[in-house]
Amino acid sequence: MTETRSTCPYCGVGCGVIIESDGTQITGVRGDPQHPANFGRLCTKGSTLHLTASAEITRQTRLLQPMQRLQRGTEPQPVSWDHALDTAALKFSNVIREHGPDAVGFYVSGQLLTEDYYVFNKLAKGLIGTNNIDTNSRLCMSSAVAGYKKTLGADAPPACYEDFDHAQCLFIVGSNTAWAHPILFRRIEDAKRANPAMKIVVADPRRTDTAEIADLFLPIQPGTDVMLFHGMLHLMLREGWTQPGYIAAHTSGFDALEAVVRDCTPEKAAQVCGIAVEDLREAARLFATSAATLSLYCQGLNQSSSGTAKNAALINLHLATAQIGKPGAGPFSLTGQPNAMGGREVGGLANLLSAHRDLGNPAHRAEVAALWGVPDVPATPGKTAVEMFQAAADGEIRALWIACTNPAQSMPDQRTVRRALERCELVVVQEAFASTATCAYADLLLPATTWGEKVGTVTNSERRISRVRPAVPAPGEARHDWSAATDFARRLEALLPARKTSIALFPYELDSETGAVAIWNEHRESTRGRDLDITGLSWSVLDSQGPQQWPMPAGQPVGRQRLYKDGVFPTPDGRARFVATAYQPVAEQCEARYPIALNTGRLRDQWHGMSRTGTLGRLFGHVPEPVVQLHPQDMAQRKLQDGDLVYLTSRRGSIVLPAQGSSELGASQAFVAMHWGSEFLGGRASAGETLAGINALTTPAYCPDSKQPELKHTAVKVLKAELPWSLLAAAWLPDDSALQTLRSLRELMKEFPFASCVPFGAAGALDGDSERSGVLFRAAGHDPASPALLAQVESLLGLAGTDVIRYADARSGQRRAARLVRAGGEAYLEAFLLGGDIRAESWIKALLQQRLPAQSLGRQLLRPGPKAPAGVRSSGKTVCSCFGVSETAIDQALQCGSGSEAERLSALQGALRCGTNCGSCVPELKRKVRVLVASREAVGA
Ligand code: SF4
Repeated sequence: MTETRSTCPYCGVGCGVIIESDGTQITGVRGDPQHPANFGRLCTKGSTLHLTASAEITRQTRLLQPMQRLQRGTEPQPVSWDHALDTAALKFSNVIREHGPDAVGFYVSGQLLTEDYYVFNKLAKGLIGTNNIDTNSRLCMSSAVAGYKKTLGADAPPACYEDFDHAQCLFIVGSNTAWAHPILFRRIEDAKRANPAMKIVVADPRRTDTAEIADLFLPIQPGTDVMLFHGMLHLMLREGWTQPGYIAAHTSGFDALEAVVRDCTPEKAAQVCGIAVEDLREAARLFATSAATLSLYCQGLNQSSSGTAKNAALINLHLATAQIGKPGAGPFSLTGQPNAMGGREVGGLANLLSAHRDLGNPAHRAEVAALWGVPDVPATPGKTAVEMFQAAADGEIRALWIACTNPAQSMPDQRTVRRALERCELVVVQEAFASTATCAYADLLLPATTWGEKVGTVTNSERRISRVRPAVPAPGEARHDWSAATDFARRLEALLPARKTSIALFPYELDSETGAVAIWNEHRESTRGRDLDITGLSWSVLDSQGPQQWPMPAGQPVGRQRLYKDGVFPTPDGRARFVATAYQPVAEQCEARYPIALNTGRLRDQWHGMSRTGTLGRLFGHVPEPVVQLHPQDMAQRKLQDGDLVYLTSRRGSIVLPAQGSSELGASQAFVAMHWGSEFLGGRASAGETLAGINALTTPAYCPDSKQPELKHTAVKVLKAELPWSLLAAAWLPDDSALQTLRSLRELMKEFPFASCVPFGAAGALDGDSERSGVLFRAAGHDPASPALLAQVESLLGLAGTDVIRYADARSGQRRAARLVRAGGEAYLEAFLLGGDIRAESWIKALLQQRLPAQSLGRQLLRPGPKAPAGVRSSGKTVCSCFGVSETAIDQALQCGSGSEAERLSALQGALRCGTNCGSCVPELKRKVRVLVASREAVGA
């Protein structure tokens, strides 16, 4: 067995992993005890990485050779790399010659490595001469970039993870850290345990698992963060809690800010935010008067039409109270993606240049042109993500290169995005996975390496650069993203004589670590003298001494842990700048026709468009299917029960989803996980249009400074969907074909007005039980589906053979099929389909998924009513993914316990092992314990 140190490819925590392999196949993964981000821990996503890289999954999901689609709507055919890159280069050069360089665009990803980002940026801005290169990080953290630059002068998070251990007050706002950055949350739990006096304030429209640890929870109305911060500052000023000495010595612009917050009285701020004046005051007091206040924030601030203002207003608080530049204090943005930071460092966005330079600065453009050896870098601003797809939809951008991202899932306003992809003359998609929604629009598909195969570096939220190392060779003909981009660039350079230079622009050795080192060295040189100077760092230092934080200029043995200790900021006068922006409500306000505020966000066990996590049934145990969560009051008003289908409609589109009551939300609010794209959630709208997942609804409105779209707020209406005919079908499937079956079933989703299709797995322990793969297909319609369509579903689920028991009544639309398998003298349900009446859903799913004995049920399976047979009981969702512990098992164990909350939790963990591995479920366990203890106290038990 070989062990390879690398980095988790999911979130911006940037955990170190040790990959176990036999040299050709990844066989295991564990946290790297030496990595300073996680010290050996991994969350549910990280600890299942090896399972997503199994031979079966690789064969079924990966793009393994270049493909060309000669005609849209047809299947792509394999071609050679030479053919694919020559075709792309010829088309790009023709478009550039005929329509100019701004007629092409590159849309890349925060999951690319720094080396990938660097080459793409140089290719667009240096070789082609267009700034049309943007990234899905635009959807994730561009407001944080703009906020830091406007206030502190540079895009540099000043704090570090160790600050959790020094903070006396933690202010978490717009971040469900418990789910989005689980390993950081473990560190927060540790810090609170070590220092119970530390106060934690959480502000969020939803009472998430993160709120479970809060001493003070502020359930603010969506989008009111700026008013919250201004209201807090108003109180700080009134109470004398600001630090006039620091303000005078180290900042500018406070007078203008004072004028803005004068109107934000506690009463007004509390009323706008929907919180109590006393809570606002307590939050202000804790923030300002604690010995060290650290704020953590993420998409709740960033994904907003006033995202930059929100970031700046929070940083204002740190500056006004001198809560910055000391251990345990500072504004700390958490990056969503694993290398959003690296992308920022190399200037891989439409408005940035290498090493935190600005495109709008002529001197910076000249510096970068000189570094690259090109005549110039164009001054025209590039199109940012939303602008880029709008320009493509308008015919302004004609050729689009998309790398390592899935805009047909993740971008807002999917109708425009899909129109753009259809209209483009050439769409190149460079991808590791073959089945993302965007792949369906590609003229050329280029296979890319992914986690466990890639070589390079990434930077995490605390400015720490880590190595990414390959444990196994690239499968098939997959290539590193930077390598394919370099190869393309050389071919394009030969076709663009006007931009030809006397030096080799892309001299990197292809497909080798040597090439990656050369790119990184070039990037390092670009940082010389800049705020992120890493000229003291080298590839070999990264290898010998491990991950390092920037800056680390020449002569420094280690990187700098935290910034601005001396109160000197990277602005022309060395002073930080207060930003005085008045509160603005959300772009799309709720009104009578669209009265509900729709919020989107992450699930605990899934990552983005689920191209990787969505291949693993066990990661669907916690949240098995797409739903829209609504406040119980909104459910009651609409006479909705859990599971009832609703039309969720915005000004841009409509989708159908099952409703689920949730008291985590405020009234008139809805929540849908961001992951549910058209790969998992579909159906056919009444006009015949295929439904495009959650982002069919979301708004393209964006922040004027950061251009980050407001994915956190869309005005919607919710109406009960009258789709009386239902279908539920599920089956265990052979591991080597389950994901292919899933893809085939997805093709059928568009035949129904509503459909969803998800994997499920055995709820076993990660350290013992073997994985099993299942698929669950759900659909609904106005009328019964045709027998031919149902026969297709049955055939895919192994329900077409002679060993299947079945019943059908076409007149009433009822159809049943079930297949049992024998094992050890018992019979178990292996596959079923219920068409028409699906009221037996709960127990029949349990029978299948929990592998309960089914022999005695016989033909009862063909007449299933809502009442479960004796001995058949659903165990509910899986709370602990690592040990496959169900909600029912936890509830039962808790009933037997006694003592304090801590004692009950400890006993529960001792009995069931839940929460003792990655810890991701611990907040949920704590909530269950708390609710139980409160209810016992209420009845005096
Ligand atoms: Fe990966 Fe989880 Fe660590 Fe994020 S917290 S880097 S998803 S293991």
